[in-house]
Amino acid sequence: MSDIKDKDLAAFMKGVIRRNPGEPEFHQAVQEVAMDIIPYIRDNERIKKMRILERMTEPDRIISFRVVWEDDEGNIRVNRGYRVQQNNAIGPYKGGIRFHPTVTQSILKFLAFEQVFKNSLTGLPLGGGKGGADFNPKGKSDREIMRFCQAFMTELSKYIGPDTDVPAGDIGVGGREVGYLFGQYKRLKDRFEGVLTGKGVEFGGSAIRPEATGYGVVYMMECMLETKGDTLKGKTCAVSGSGNVAQFCTEKLIELGAKVISMSDSGGTIYVKDGMSRENLEWVMDLKNNRSGRMSECVAGFGAKYYEGDRPWALPCELAFPCATQNEIETADAHALVKNECIAISEGANMPSSPEAIDIIRTSSMMHAPSKAANAGGVAVSGLEMSQNSLRMSWSRDEVDAHLKKIIANIHTKCVDKGMRDDGNVDYFKGANIAGFDKVANAMLAYGAL
Ligand code: NDP
Repeated sequence: MSDIKDKDLAAFMKGVIRRNPGEPEFHQAVQEVAMDIIPYIRDNERIKKMRILERMTEPDRIISFRVVWEDDEGNIRVNRGYRVQQNNAIGPYKGGIRFHPTVTQSILKFLAFEQVFKNSLTGLPLGGGKGGADFNPKGKSDREIMRFCQAFMTELSKYIGPDTDVPAGDIGVGGREVGYLFGQYKRLKDRFEGVLTGKGVEFGGSAIRPEATGYGVVYMMECMLETKGDTLKGKTCAVSGSGNVAQFCTEKLIELGAKVISMSDSGGTIYVKDGMSRENLEWVMDLKNNRSGRMSECVAGFGAKYYEGDRPWALPCELAFPCATQNEIETADAHALVKNECIAISEGANMPSSPEAIDIIRTSSMMHAPSKAANAGGVAVSGLEMSQNSLRMSWSRDEVDAHLKKIIANIHTKCVDKGMRDDGNVDYFKGANIAGFDKVANAMLAYGAL
């Protein structure tokens, strides 16, 4: 954690750490927000008296449950599942499900907390939540994944509903898993309703939902560049990750004439000096989505070099798109980006920059859109999927894409309005935190002490 100079912030964080021991990711996410909100509400007696920020850092409830399933050898396996229902002041709880061996309560609480601000920024009526399990999908057969999803939903189904809590995908949970989860919910409840988003288009999914997070990250970058009279065309871009967000971020960048020089996974990074082609990307998509492959297999035919164990941030780039996981840009990475005169970062992953990295980037001229603003396109289109389900309608790709672009442009405007600094540059973190906070805080004030 970076040093805290503000006395009120230090006292507030002391309370958060005392009440949530051993949860560093949650502390980090709260501090990243509180450092902007505490000065903002310093003179607002009503918000302080009603303890709005304290209430926002306390989840409405956390559900934790046992998930028992049988593997292909007939062994009984036990995992832990969670749903963190953080805040439903402005709409039903909404946020993804993560299946990854590193999942802990701390990680899901940080993600749920972030989600409240992100969902508020979209302008849609969505509260915040997050869920998941410490289940490792890697190396599991399709039937094992199906049995795990069914066991997970058997318990989760008691706590969710189209007007209560609407989960979606995240790391390790894509279209296939959402299909198994939705199928089990429908079987248990005998109701066909919009209880999950990211569904297949055949059973209520929205056009553009798989692409939305990655596309939105690129649209946010376009908005930032536009403030400097610049565009994406010809820009050298470093992308990390090779999953859902990274793939569609790369697709949109190539479509808009940018040069994507890297993708990565937890094993390492490929460097494609002359930029990836559409064919290269299709190969990565097939490798990752159908063959459980590794980025180390993407050298021949790509004109690429592979750097085992490395992240892409030391590669010379003008624009950076972290799309893998939390804290993937640390101190040394931030210094490398500054040294290479990177112009801007648009965060696809949730909280990909450590507090120290954010401090370093803040002292440079780099523009830096935080995840709660830059990757909100995914949940925004999930919100549109909920609307389509309620209306019993499906909108076309072009209609949904137009909504997505507009929503991201509005988020950018909110960040500029609330984050403009005296020197004429925009503090996108501050802008996103304050704009996200305002709407939720006003709703909570309207409800009184609940
Ligand atoms: P996927 O599971 O599709 O892909 C995750 C990617 O990140 C993989 O390339 C994976 O590599 C890599 N990765 C995961 N953990 C690590 C790690 N510890 N170190 C290095 N690389 C890692 O997930 P998504 O693309 O859906 O999610 C990526 C990020 O975007 C997450 O932070 C997620 O919360 C965020 N996000 C996703 C949204 C969505 O709509 N899907 C919406 C908003 C945010 P490997 O295969 O080796 O594990």
